[in-house]
Amino acid sequence: MTAGWVNFAKVKAMVGLRRVLEDYGIWEQLRRSGPDHYRGPCPIHQGEGRDAFHGDLGKNVFHCFACGAGGNVLDLVVHMERCSLREAALRLQRRYLAVDFTAPRQPEVPRRRQLVTEKRERNTTLSFRLSGLDEAHPYVSARGLSQQTANYFGIGYYCGPGIMNGRLAIPIHDEQGRLVAYCGRSVTAGDPRYRFPAAFQKSAVVFNYHRAAAIADDGVVVVEGFFDSMRVHQAGFPSVVALMGSALSLDQENLLVQRFRRVRLMFDGDQTGRMASPAAAQRLAKRCSVCQVMVAPGRQPDQMSGDEIRQILGQT
Ligand SMILES: [Zn+2]
Repeated sequence: MTAGWVNFAKVKAMVGLRRVLEDYGIWEQLRRSGPDHYRGPCPIHQGEGRDAFHGDLGKNVFHCFACGAGGNVLDLVVHMERCSLREAALRLQRRYLAVDFTAPRQPEVPRRRQLVTEKRERNTTLSFRLSGLDEAHPYVSARGLSQQTANYFGIGYYCGPGIMNGRLAIPIHDEQGRLVAYCGRSVTAGDPRYRFPAAFQKSAVVFNYHRAAAIADDGVVVVEGFFDSMRVHQAGFPSVVALMGSALSLDQENLLVQRFRRVRLMFDGDQTGRMASPAAAQRLAKRCSVCQVMVAPGRQPDQMSGDEIRQILGQT
């Protein structure tokens, strides 16, 4: 964890919107609608509006008319990575400006407003473990999971105190296998369906990565959700990880390519998955072998039988 410095004004001025859009695989989905103006589907809300997302390369800004997101390159990274503004600036600085920012160069001392000390957004190891998780709760079998699978992932219904109370607790580990959070899945129709600790940085973690990485296999199946990964594991594919969403963050991308040489993307067969899959594939293809496993429209891996999963993964 190195202390670092970031120059917001320089990042904003020097990093072109187009390069960031290209890096996220968004650029390819946009079409020209004016001299410096491009529009297309929005990678942030990933839903309504084929032309909702507008990018202005001249002004180096973007705006989505559906979800209201907008701003400069920093804001785009904040939305895509779900990270802080400072972290976004550091990422762009590292990636595009090749600045060694471990210390400010001496004689010139930039104005204080432009200086921010880097504290890498990462998840700290939990100092406790939930006890008394009930692996035999009916919700587990209702999701089509065996006791063995529940045991392997360490999930169970929790009725103790705290924000996980009355929910199915899913332990989340970092790439080193350290427990960094629990996600609480509602077992009723109650909202929200998933509850994460407020400080948890989803984009810094790939679910089940440490277990998949420990398997002697240079290939991995990447799915969106917890239950997708559990069902794929149960179908006989233990080298499986979940993004906990459909957006692939740069941290997640880095983790995947550091360990695996072949990535199979098995996103949901809905509009969000259909949009996110090619975007992720495009980015990963620059760094590893990647293929997209097409799940039938309206289906998702956690609703598929073991046979269906084996069949669709056996074809690729
Ligand atoms: Zn949007």
